Amino acid sequence: MSRQQPDTIHENEQAESTVGAAGRDLLTLGTVFAALVLFVGTGGPVVTHSVAALAGSGVASDTLLVPAFLLNVALIIFGWRRYRDLMSEVRVRRGAEEQARLLAQIDPLTGCLNRRSIGPATDVLIADAASRGEVVAFVMLDMDNFKQVNDVNGHAAGDSLLHEAAARIQRHLPGDALLARIGGDEFACVVPFAPGQPESIDRLTETLIEAVAKPIAHHDTALETTISAGVSRSDADGARHDAQTLLHMADIAMYHAKNRGRNRHFWFEPDMESELRVRNELESGIRRGLACGEFVPYYEKQMNLATGELVGFEMLARWNSPTLGVVGPEIFIPVAEEIGLIAQLSESLIQQALIDARSWDPRLTLSVNISPLQLRDPWFAQKILKLLVECNFPPSRFEIEITETCLHDNIGLVRTLITSLKNQGIRVSLDDFGTGYSSLSQLRALPFDQIKIDRSFVISLPGNKENATIVQSIAALGEGLGLPVTVEGVENETVLRELSQFGTFKVQGYLYGHPEPAARVATELAQLNLLLEPGEQTELPSSKPVTDAPKTANG
Ligand code: C2E
Ligand code: CA
Ligand code: CA
Repeated sequence: MSRQQPDTIHENEQAESTVGAAGRDLLTLGTVFAALVLFVGTGGPVVTHSVAALAGSGVASDTLLVPAFLLNVALIIFGWRRYRDLMSEVRVRRGAEEQARLLAQIDPLTGCLNRRSIGPATDVLIADAASRGEVVAFVMLDMDNFKQVNDVNGHAAGDSLLHEAAARIQRHLPGDALLARIGGDEFACVVPFAPGQPESIDRLTETLIEAVAKPIAHHDTALETTISAGVSRSDADGARHDAQTLLHMADIAMYHAKNRGRNRHFWFEPDMESELRVRNELESGIRRGLACGEFVPYYEKQMNLATGELVGFEMLARWNSPTLGVVGPEIFIPVAEEIGLIAQLSESLIQQALIDARSWDPRLTLSVNISPLQLRDPWFAQKILKLLVECNFPPSRFEIEITETCLHDNIGLVRTLITSLKNQGIRVSLDDFGTGYSSLSQLRALPFDQIKIDRSFVISLPGNKENATIVQSIAALGEGLGLPVTVEGVENETVLRELSQFGTFKVQGYLYGHPEPAARVATELAQLNLLLEPGEQTELPSSKPVTDAPKTANG
């Protein structure tokens, strides 16, 4: 891969460091020149006299002139040699400096420019483009799952992914564009374009995203990654932005692309900056909140449609944020997943829920939602079991809900996990059924205990024929496969009546109340005579101090 632009900074450094050698060149040349002058001045008479004297036809030269002459000859020879040596020293040094300069500018793995050199090269390119009436686009590309490739397939695989990605990107870039690797899995392309034709950059970026997304062969495995991209332009808002600003703007747009589902690109817009600030605040808030026990379980009732009895609760996470109030999981779960805190957060919530549920009537079940990321942890089943043992909670009362999206990840791993959870007596439900793409064969291959119809089909049920058909079909499917079906999002009696024509379900939804904190649940259960007295609860195993578990804010 070639470097496309000279780096003026490094050229200056190189020039400075060869000045010393050149100075010494001059000194040597001066000495040789003086010797030559002397040689011409003294050489003529000395040589003629000496030759005449040797031939016996004249007087020998002055005794001082001969040594002076010989000294001159020696000086010339010495000077010439010294000059030749110096020149070769300069050549070697220039080569080494060029090498060092390249190393300082170039990323050794991919041969692209590096973070340090892309800035000055971009500024040169902006000036160049401006002279032709063009502007530049700064395209920041970030791999979406590089860390995973590295973790699962090893660093050699990661390196070969980066190397191949760089080669593919380079192949699609125009000749005057720059390419740099500016971080672990981040690349930057700087491309001149006509200011009225940003579509050319859209097309190019899409091409780059597609090119990198094609599987990359590494030994026997095919490595796959997608790319999110952010783009900024040097003339945004009528200003003339420098490389550093362009990089900052492209970075923000890239994060925006990540948050909008990855594998896509966005141009920078000023609004994104405040969005990023909010997100950063959310991130630090979550870290702080987790340490302070601000995340608490809320509970939603699950009812038996046929009998109208309460059968259990689904735990739904809430964040009691001191600045934002009660925050729902759809805001903080994706962020917790992205910053790697989801497992810790989930385990803390499950532990609190198990402690709460110990005081409920033993016939009541507890189900919890699990992030697809947690299912990638080979120790997940063991961790759950440990929590159950620590809280002395029977696995038969415990249920795990996983969403269809988990099934795309690694079906083999998911199967092993579900099987080992089931072997412990834990039940596993397939949540949000109908929204993903799980095929019937997957549903049969995986030993689920139950399916949950996504609430989006249920909420608009009255009067919506299509959704009625979907709910009916899923109910029939459940019956055929011998899987109980839970319907969520039941908001009113009309829906309930319609549902009761389709079959027997477990139901949940606002009709039975909104999700509530532990203390309120306890009060209601007490009224229904479904709350155990402290003396009736099973003892906690003495060796496992559960007392250091974070306290729920409400219970
Ligand atoms: P979900 O598992 O589908 O949970 C049901 C969601 O529907 C809950 O939203 C609940 O409050 C809401 N809901 C219940 N009844 C009705 C109804 O009658 N009408 C309508 N419109 N909505 C209803 P919530 O609590 O905001 O949770 C959203 C999602 O966040 C959950 O969807 C679940 O996927 C996820 N989630 C919640 N807690 C956790 C957790 O601890 N870990 C993980 N990984 N995800 C969680
Ligand atoms: Ca759920
Ligand atoms: Ca659901």
